Amino acid sequence: MGRKSLFGPDRICAVVAAPTAQEMARQLRRALRLTRTVELRLDWLKGNREIVRLLSWLRVHRPRATLIATCRRRSAGGKFSGGVAEQLAVLMTAVAAGCTWCDVELETAQRLRPGGLQSMLGRGRGLISWHDFRRTPASLRAVLHGLERCRGDAIKVATQCNSIRESLRVQALARGRRNVVAVPMGEIGLPVRVLALRQGSALAYAPVEQATAPGQVSLEEMKQLYRADKLDRRTRVYGVIGNPVAHSLSPLLHNTGFIARRMNAVYLPFLVRDLRDFLDAIQPLGIAGFSVTLPHKQVILRHLDGCDPLAEAIGAVNTVVVRGGGMLYGYNTDYVGVLRALERRVALRGSRVLIFGAGGAARAAAFALAQGGALVAVLARSEAKARGLARAVGGEVIERGRLRREFFDAIVNATPVGMFPHARRSPLRTEELNCRLVMDLIYRPMKTELLCRAAQRGIETVSGVEMFLAQGIAQWEIWSGLRAPETAMRSAVLAALRREERERGAA
Ligand code: NAP
Repeated sequence: MGRKSLFGPDRICAVVAAPTAQEMARQLRRALRLTRTVELRLDWLKGNREIVRLLSWLRVHRPRATLIATCRRRSAGGKFSGGVAEQLAVLMTAVAAGCTWCDVELETAQRLRPGGLQSMLGRGRGLISWHDFRRTPASLRAVLHGLERCRGDAIKVATQCNSIRESLRVQALARGRRNVVAVPMGEIGLPVRVLALRQGSALAYAPVEQATAPGQVSLEEMKQLYRADKLDRRTRVYGVIGNPVAHSLSPLLHNTGFIARRMNAVYLPFLVRDLRDFLDAIQPLGIAGFSVTLPHKQVILRHLDGCDPLAEAIGAVNTVVVRGGGMLYGYNTDYVGVLRALERRVALRGSRVLIFGAGGAARAAAFALAQGGALVAVLARSEAKARGLARAVGGEVIERGRLRREFFDAIVNATPVGMFPHARRSPLRTEELNCRLVMDLIYRPMKTELLCRAAQRGIETVSGVEMFLAQGIAQWEIWSGLRAPETAMRSAVLAALRREERERGAA
């Protein structure tokens, strides 16, 4: 933090990219509310007329910002269909219109005589860039030398990263240097991309609207959720590991908590296909703790140095604390989530609760309820699995045929039936809901078909979002040792889910 960049005070660079000048100008105005460093993707404009229009607009309006003009040719992964001469002509006009920097790909810079680029750009500065949209080469040294030979004012390396290890190699190029922009592309590279500024990169790119490269984080998220320009060596890094992980609400939940408590901490989504790759990154990234989601909740147990006995009994861990010397300690807060969500509404001791499903979430729910003193009944499509779970918690197995005749204090759905995009489905029929309360562990949608049917019968309902919030809040408190700002965290998640549902409804 605080290191002055060659590009000006704002090190988060907004990427403005659209087919028309009018749309680019609109995005530019939006970007300037959050940062004064902006890349203009001139190659995204459809045709020369729009390029001229935008540059004329710039000449008149002269926004107070560091503008980077990019007109990448198709051969280098851009959209500009012209040749090198036309590309350079566009960039020279951009400098005349007020752009301070020009991004020139290596493929173009190498075609010019030594010093040719500098004399052409005049007072404009050159950012010599190199992209590989498919992979990260085994040696980046040769790339670096190639870029340096072009004698620009700064260099940029952007490669597709297929492991966290690769993203760390890309980011290492910027260590200790002021003039290197390191961009690990792709969803796996995303956490290191957010951490790039604290790791030394001169800029971190974020699109205002449309992603121009894989794995990009939007400008608003980069600035307001992850606070990429405020992170420093003392920032405590947390995250969630899973596959898939892109739609996880955990980054929103946890970062909202850190922001509300003004903590120097960040929480990032790690797409993890290979657990070893992530475990090796814990030390270099200084990760202090992480959430675990599918498919790693069981496998992670093998890599722990210690584990909460209840998590061990459940056979799944969703929370890991990294202790001194890199020792990993596991907990299960899904269990806490179910308990907190239900105990407020049902006197658990002596109650009878039906769990539908016998997977990971059902196990956490069954242990939580048994611990709370409830008699657990398990129904699952696989009778053997239902029997195994019932035995583990001293409960009983229920056959589906008995549901119409049996009464429960609560019924918990722990199957994915009714989850978006199959939101019209219900795991149980209306006449099978003979109980005082129904809880669905699903939270997309918040009000599932099952909950709607229960409500129609006058039965109290609890959405899976309650469990999601409670398990996340318990994680946050384990890591921070503080009381979580629950109201702020809850409002952020509920607002995001409502927005998602509105957008889905509109689509
Ligand atoms: P899981 O380990 O895959 O278990 C799913 C269970 O549902 C299994 O018993 C499976 O039976 C059963 N099942 C799947 N499709 C079924 C169908 N068509 N009919 C009947 N049973 C079916 O998954 P999980 O991690 O337990 O997750 C279950 C649900 O809980 C998901 O919707 C998940 O989103 C939700 N969840 C919510 C939270 C939260 O914080 N709210 C946390 C964790 C999970 P088989 O074993 O026979 O396949």
